[in-house]
Amino acid sequence: MKQKVTVFVNGWHMHTESEIEKLAAEYMEEGRTAFFSKELNKAATLTQNAIDIYRMEKNYEQYAFAQNMMGVIYVSLGNESAAMDCYLEVLECSKRHGITSVLALAYNNIGSRYQELRQHQKAIGYFERSADELEKVTDTENENFQIRYLITHMNLMKSYGELDRLDDARKELLKLEKCSQGIVNEMYRYSYLTLKSRLYWNIGEKEYVYEHLDELIKGGIDDSNAADYIEDVSDLCGLLKDMQEFDKWKRVILAFEQHAKKQNSIYYEMILNEMWLDYYKELGDNEQYVKLCIHYVDVAQQQKKADNEERACAIDLKIELQEKEEQRRHAEVRSNQDALTGLGNRYMLEKDAVDVIEHAIKTGEKIAVGVLDIDCFKQHNDTYGHIQGDRCLRHVADVLKNAVEKRGKAYRFGGDEFVLLIQNGEENTITSIAETIKKELQQLHIEDKDSGRQAAVTISQGYASFLPSRQESRNSLIEHADKALYEVKENGRDGFRIIVE
Ligand code: GH3
Ligand code: MG
Repeated sequence: MKQKVTVFVNGWHMHTESEIEKLAAEYMEEGRTAFFSKELNKAATLTQNAIDIYRMEKNYEQYAFAQNMMGVIYVSLGNESAAMDCYLEVLECSKRHGITSVLALAYNNIGSRYQELRQHQKAIGYFERSADELEKVTDTENENFQIRYLITHMNLMKSYGELDRLDDARKELLKLEKCSQGIVNEMYRYSYLTLKSRLYWNIGEKEYVYEHLDELIKGGIDDSNAADYIEDVSDLCGLLKDMQEFDKWKRVILAFEQHAKKQNSIYYEMILNEMWLDYYKELGDNEQYVKLCIHYVDVAQQQKKADNEERACAIDLKIELQEKEEQRRHAEVRSNQDALTGLGNRYMLEKDAVDVIEHAIKTGEKIAVGVLDIDCFKQHNDTYGHIQGDRCLRHVADVLKNAVEKRGKAYRFGGDEFVLLIQNGEENTITSIAETIKKELQQLHIEDKDSGRQAAVTISQGYASFLPSRQESRNSLIEHADKALYEVKENGRDGFRIIVE
């Protein structure tokens, strides 16, 4: 058992880990109880609470168990795709965190989905994976192991039976007969009996089936608390149909009807309807059959409406997620971009610098950093006003961006100060960039709308060319070039200076 005492902070309360996990375990237990008394929505909410806690606590094993439980609940709610999401999450989580204890359950549950869709070959593939997992277990006395073993081999027996692979099904039965009867009796008595009877009927050992017929019917009527009740009843109805035991068959459907009415769900209504359709068709009662067909269309339309709503919700959700993602991307771009000039800001510089430094260290090539500051910009603002000043900043930004082009990137560091990050630190590259900037600014005529005067703009440029070290931070990068800039400002501005280190 884990004995960590990390503190969990959730809003106002503080719990120790064991306390919060105790809470999650309580949610799971209450969820299970709700599930077995068929309060499925309540069960889903409780289990989801447990999932959230286990995820937060990084208790991945219990998290996987809870996800598996959630899948089982979704199946009962008739939500196949949500159930599959849960099971696949169990597999994913198990793989990521090296957990094996939940794999057999998840494989079984995925196989059962295929089994219900009558894809028995695929189902067997998953049940066999479950069996392989169980082969690796050493503590076979453990109750959890025995339940998994029982379920796995019952599933295999059923699917082999459905494929008419009766020898394989019998082999599975032999394995099952070695299982502890206590476990069988506790939860799976009727499922087991139904499956076994089905197989015996198919291999012609009908006596066994007749001997146990009363017990089978009792199960079909009383067994409504079983997790696989729908499946058990369907199996039993299939057997009674083959046996042509119409009265008993009808009793079982009537019992299911009681149960289905309590659920108040279209999904159950559909299943019930299908049971009756099958029954009256086999019986040859056309009048009842036609009546039911008409009702069935009605229910099918309701089901379709519910399905459509669910699909529309799924589309809504996808769109919402996509919009959120777009907003997030926009926010990210905005937070890395200078709003006025559209250049990268100092945060972007910091991010990019990491890559540029990494690359330089790898290749052993020098890089260059330029720090550029507009000359007498205060005066520019004073003469032409701030709005004109902003236009000027945008023009300068464009000039810098075009001058570095593919050789690097320009950033607005703040105010009238810009930084150039140049991948190639060779002096002639820097000179070429610096001269281009100077020339372009000379040709830049920013007309002042009010006075009609042409405002001239010059900039001072300081560069450093050097081989960066891993410890280089953004600040120290700029320090390299700051000295050069200072010298240019001291020497009358409108020029550039390159320091080669
Ligand atoms: P120097 O040649 O020594 O750099 O002189 P300077 O006047 O440019 O001095 P300094 O760089 O310290 O001044 C920057 C000025 O830039 C101060 C501030 O009014 C102006 N400024 C900063 N941000 C903005 C902005 O977003 N828009 C406008 N229009 N002006 C800005
Ligand atoms: Mg300035």
